[in-house]
Order: sequence, then C-alpha cells, then structure tokens
Amino acid sequence: MIYLDNAANTPVDEEVLAVFSEVSRAHAANPNAAHAAGQAAGSVLHDAEARMLSLLKLEGRQLVHLSGATEANNLAIKGVARRYRNLGRHIVSTWLEHSSVNGPLAALAEEGFEVDFIPCAPDGAVDLQELGSRMRRDTILATVCAVDSEAGIAQPVEAIAEIVRRFPNARLHLDATQAIGKAAMPLACADLVSFSPHKFFGLVGFGGLVVREGTELDIQMHGGLSASPYRSGTPSPALAASTATALERVLADFDADLARVEALNRRLRAGLSRFPKVVVNSTARSVPHILSISLPGVKTEAFRAALEEAGAVVSTRSACCAPNTPSRPILALTKDRKRALSTLRISLSRLTTEREIDGFLECFAACAAD
Ligand code: PMP
Repeated sequence: MIYLDNAANTPVDEEVLAVFSEVSRAHAANPNAAHAAGQAAGSVLHDAEARMLSLLKLEGRQLVHLSGATEANNLAIKGVARRYRNLGRHIVSTWLEHSSVNGPLAALAEEGFEVDFIPCAPDGAVDLQELGSRMRRDTILATVCAVDSEAGIAQPVEAIAEIVRRFPNARLHLDATQAIGKAAMPLACADLVSFSPHKFFGLVGFGGLVVREGTELDIQMHGGLSASPYRSGTPSPALAASTATALERVLADFDADLARVEALNRRLRAGLSRFPKVVVNSTARSVPHILSISLPGVKTEAFRAALEEAGAVVSTRSACCAPNTPSRPILALTKDRKRALSTLRISLSRLTTEREIDGFLECFAACAAD
C-alpha cells in the first residue's frame, strides 16, 4: 500500500512508541498525587512540558494537556470568547479553517457572538488589508490555521499577529496542527497555539494548547484540579514524554527533510501535469507535504476508491469533513464550485519515497484511463 494521507495521520515513530512504553512501565502513580511516586511521575510530565515548549520556542508558557487538537481548538476558542465576552463579541477567522475551529465558532454564533471570515488572496494568504479593516475595538479573538489541512497554505503569521496586536482586546489563536514539522514559523507571536502529535509521528490521544501568560480562559471541563486549571483529569506522563520525543525527532533534520519533501512534491506535480484534467489548488504558499488537486466533473470519492483498489491511499479532503459537500477552503481559494466538489488531497511525509510517488502516479494513470 502506498500511503499518501499523512495530513490525516502519520505512522508512529518506533522511538516514540518505545518512550511511551518505558514511561508507562516505570510510573504507576498518578502525576497529581502527593506521594513520592506521584511526584516522580509529575517530574517526568514537567520535564516533557519544558522540552516541548523549548522545541516550539514557546518557553515559559503554560501547556495544557488535552486529547488532541480538536479539544485544544475548542478550549482556545470557547475559552477566550466566554472569558472576555465583557470586552466584546466579535471574532475573526478564515475560510480555510478545520471543522474543529468552525464547529466552536458556529456554537459561539448561536450564543450571540459575531464571526467574521476574512477572505484570502489568490495565493491563499489571509488578505491582510481586509483583516486590518475588519478588526474592531470589540474584537476579542482572531483564530487562524497556521497551515490549513486541505491546501496546506502557510499563513504569514507574524504579519497577522502584527495587525491583531494593534487591537488591545484581541487575542490571536493559531491552529498549528498541520504546521509543526512542515513549516518553520514564529509561533511565539500568538497568544494561544494548538498542536497534535499524531500529525508528526507521535501518538493519537494527546494534544496541547499553549497559553501565553496574561491570557485567561473560561474553564470548559469541570471536575477538580489537575496539571492545569483549564483541564481537569489525569494527565499522561507517557503521552507527554512521547510527544516531546516526536517533536525532537521531527525537528532534528528539519531543513534536510523539507528539501527532500520539496523534491518529492515537484516530482508529483510534474507527473500529474501529464493529465489535462488535473488542476492544482495548492499554491506557492503551500507546504510541500500537502498537495490539493481537483478533477472538475469527476466524482472524486469514486476516483479515490479506485486509487485505493489500485494500491494508493489518499483522501478527497480533510478526514473531518462531511462527504459530498464542496470543500470550503478550496471554494474560498478558487471561487470555483466544480473544483471544490472534486478535490483530492495527496499528503506526503518525510518518510515518503520517490518510489512511492512513482507508484502513486502509475495508480493514478491506471484510474484516469478507466
Ligand atoms: N486542526 C487541523 C488543521 C487539523 O488538520 C486537524 C486534524 N485533521 C485538527 C485540527 C484536529 O486534530 P485532532 O485529530 O488531533 O483532533
């Protein structure tokens, strides 16, 4: 099987899995417990937190241990909106967001918040002029995906932060789930950052929300004190330590890995350019790991299934989207409904090989000929 759905999930790294097992075996105690065994588990947890924050260049901030980026996005967005509703009810976001951002935004709109979606420029970057003109004194939150999950567009996060900073009541949340390990970004410009290790060879079941000092959140999960007041429940030292290792490993050879994935992306695009039906949705701003294409007029769910039958796994779009509806990000990007209804997302990782790209192109040719 040729697996090119790495934006949905990456295979777990063996070393990450080994750290998870070792820490799980070594520490039976609850890291919140007062006894020595609990303190020892707690110290593994805190050491992992410090490593993660340092690798993300977010030293000194609070890391809230959660179950994934969906929970991190929910906590960030509802947490800020409900905590600061006395300062305003206006929120800005983009058309490129994941359902775990759009969902809480829709829930807040029901509660009376006003959500403004900023259009993007043809290259997919948030239109900075529009952002500047739509921000207001009562804007309390800007929530933006650092890299989106469908077209892989990397946003100019520092320029976005610079605009948001001019509005003293507004906080910036970055959904960095697809950014980590794919794009070097100054995440420290944000007040809140979400991430999830299963996108960078870590385990499913952990997610982090990093919160800058001075930003408070309305508590969403009630039920007793834990590692953070924002999330009750027992945190997992094993998940935290394995995530720190996953981060270390994905960032260790970042530049060389990026150059390799860029070369694979060029090979893929060159191969696909032989098919006149294929239009590329990803832009010059997209990370090389994610290539969105459309086959206008083709039922891409059937095409995806045919590719799978031929041995290649991709997705039509983000795994969290409703099927047979136009892709919101691709519609925003291309303004073309036909294209937004016929997308395929091919997502690579640092482990993808040239042979796999060539194998995928063979499967693609066989399916396109049918
Ligand atoms: N944000 C983005 C941009 C994503 O791609 C995903 C995962 N598809 C999420 C959030 C949700 O992450 P998780 O699966 O860890 O809840």
